[in-house]
Amino acid sequence: MTEVSVTKDALPATDDLVVLKNVNKHFGALHVLQDIDLTIARGEVVVVIGPSGSGKSTLCRAINRLESIESGSITIDGKPLPEEGKALARLRADVGMVFQSFNLFAHKTVLENVMLGQLKVRKADKKEAEEKARGLLDRVGVSAQADKYPAQLSGGQQQRVAIARALAMGPKVMLFDEPTSALDPEMINEVLEVMQQLARDGMTMVVVTHEMGFARSAANRVVFMADGRIVEEAVPDQFFSNPRSDRAKDFLSKIL
Ligand code: ADP
Ligand code: MG
Repeated sequence: MTEVSVTKDALPATDDLVVLKNVNKHFGALHVLQDIDLTIARGEVVVVIGPSGSGKSTLCRAINRLESIESGSITIDGKPLPEEGKALARLRADVGMVFQSFNLFAHKTVLENVMLGQLKVRKADKKEAEEKARGLLDRVGVSAQADKYPAQLSGGQQQRVAIARALAMGPKVMLFDEPTSALDPEMINEVLEVMQQLARDGMTMVVVTHEMGFARSAANRVVFMADGRIVEEAVPDQFFSNPRSDRAKDFLSKIL
C-alpha cells in the first residue's frame, strides 16, 4: 500500500489538528475500524469515500466520541478525547458534526436552534448568541427563515441551518457525514456551495460524501475506505485519474 499525502506534508508538522493512531473498533464480530491511522492538518479538507458499510460513519462518530474505540488513540488539537461529562460536551463543541438527517430541534425556531448550543455549552450571553446566530444564518443564506420552524424549511435550507448551528459553537473541525444524501437533487448544490465556501475560509473539514465533484474541487486529500480499513489516500486528481488499489478502481468504476 502506498500512502500519498502531499498537502499534509506541505503544512508544518506541528499543525496536526486531528490525529488517529492505530484505532480499532468492533461491532460484535465485525471489525468495523481496523488499524486506522489518519492525521488531519489544520485547514485541511479531507474527503472520505468508500462503499456502504466500510466504516465511514463509524470513523466520523469516533472522532466526535459518539462511538467509543477499543484501542489506539484519537487526539483533537493535541488533547485526547474525554470520556464523558463537561469535557466531552466541550469536545463536541470543538468538533462540529453535520449528519445526513439534519437533526434540528423540531420545536425550536431556526434562530433558537442556532443559539441553543452557544447558551448551554459555551455559556454565551443571550444577545451575543443571537447576533452570532443571525450572522451565521446570513452566511449560509437562510436569514429570512430565522423565525420559522424546521419543518417549514426545505431540506436544503434545513441542512444549511444545521451547518450554521455547528459553526455557532466555533468548532476547530467540522465533520460532515453524507450531508447531501437525503436531499432532493435540486438542493444538493446550495449545501455544497456553503461547504465550498467554508473550505475556502480555511475550516478544517472531514467530509464523507458521494459527491465526486465536491471531492475534486474542495478536497486536499481523498481517503478511500473499504472493510474498515483506509485502503488508499491521495490528492484528488491522482486518486480519480490513477487509483492504485483494485478496491478503489472497482468503486470508482461503479460511481463515475
Ligand atoms: P458506512 O458509513 O461506510 O456506510 P458504517 O460506519 O455506518 O459504514 O457501518 C460500518 C458497518 O458497521 C456496517 O456493516 C454497519 O452495519 C455496522 N454498524 C454500524 N453501526 C453499528 C451499530 N451501532 N451496531 C452494530 N453494527 C453497526
Ligand atoms: Mg455512513
